[in-house]
Amino acid sequence: MIKTDIIIIGAGPVGLFTIFEAGLLKLRCHLIDSLAQPGGQCSEIYPKKPIYDIPGFPSILAGELVDNLMKQVAPFKPGFTFGEAAMRIEKTADDKFIVTTIKGTKHEAPIVIIAGGLGVFEPRKPPISNIEDYEDKGVEYIIKDPAFYQDKECVIAGGGDSALDWAIHLTEQKIASKVSLVHRGASFRGHLDSVQKVIDLADTGKINLVTEAEVVGLSGEGKIEKITIKHKRNGESIVEADHFIPLFGLKPSLGPIADWGLEIEKNAIKVDTLDYSTNVPGIYAIGDVNTYENKLKLILCGFHEGTMAVQSAFARIHPEKKNVLKYTTVNGVTGF
Ligand SMILES: Cc1cc2nc3c(=O)[nH]c(=O)nc-3n(C[C@H](O)[C@H](O)[C@H](O)COP(=O)(O)OP(=O)(O)OC[C@H]3O[C@@H](n4cnc5c(N)ncnc54)[C@H](O)[C@@H]3O)c2cc1C
Repeated sequence: MIKTDIIIIGAGPVGLFTIFEAGLLKLRCHLIDSLAQPGGQCSEIYPKKPIYDIPGFPSILAGELVDNLMKQVAPFKPGFTFGEAAMRIEKTADDKFIVTTIKGTKHEAPIVIIAGGLGVFEPRKPPISNIEDYEDKGVEYIIKDPAFYQDKECVIAGGGDSALDWAIHLTEQKIASKVSLVHRGASFRGHLDSVQKVIDLADTGKINLVTEAEVVGLSGEGKIEKITIKHKRNGESIVEADHFIPLFGLKPSLGPIADWGLEIEKNAIKVDTLDYSTNVPGIYAIGDVNTYENKLKLILCGFHEGTMAVQSAFARIHPEKKNVLKYTTVNGVTGF
């Protein structure tokens, strides 16, 4: 049994910063994440994209923000259970919670803070019968590091910003040796300037743009070699490729947390904005996973929510103590 003061479910940017704010109050945290690494969406979806609205950083790559957060929280020696989804929560006789993961790892604490973001990540997969056979053998649903595609022939599928942006990036930065963009419709859902850029790159022969078509077949010995495209009007064609990257988005799903007796609205956990507590005393929800009037799904707002939640957690854990706000400029950062 792992015992701590606060169990944080989700090691995205919001869960990570909460360790720091809890640490200032001398509260220890242990984080559980179904992914193998910290950072949530920042690491999993857009590690190489710059973020422009983190206070004090005119621009910072999402992956770099995660690295910085990990450095910032290091003095507070957080524990991590990575690669395991939190599945069950139970209350003990002495008013604590036990959170059990899919692998049976048990964690006990008087406070649980859910920072589960979009929930357990599940990419929307195209209905190609053998697609799972090629996962990590040429099929990727998320581009983590564009350098992985250096000098490779890539087929991207999708009609939103992600598909357009990556097709442009892999082409303009001369990363992939060939980029095909396959889209079911005749028009795109992405930003107009991105759509125009793709059309311009297609006109100059730099992108192979295939619209009103979809990928229906994958073949190759042990890895992707050929991709079959079905055209709405004129039959099928075959494209040679090293990678097939369907970018159809992620399915937002709260996963097991949805059955924990919490008040849920539109796939998010309802909270009281006084302290971001849920309807279950001792359980808080912060970051993208919560909902309230005027909610903004921004990292900046999640940092505030985590800060407020740990203040309230402190009062629950130490009802006899009065917490006086101390500036870090005055007290510094004293770790454990
Ligand atoms: C392409 C893109 C660009 C963006 N740009 C910006 C921007 O410029 N500025 C900005 O402020 N925001 C931006 N965002 C939004 C920002 O990324 C989110 O607001 C932020 O990641 C939310 O952080 P979080 O910690 O709440 O959740 P997440 O980052 O979603 O992390 C949640 C974590 O919880 C884990 N988890 C969920 N359920 C469980 C479970 N049952 N057990 C174990 N682990 C679980 C997940 O695996 C995940 O790692 C962008 C988002 C995207 C997709």
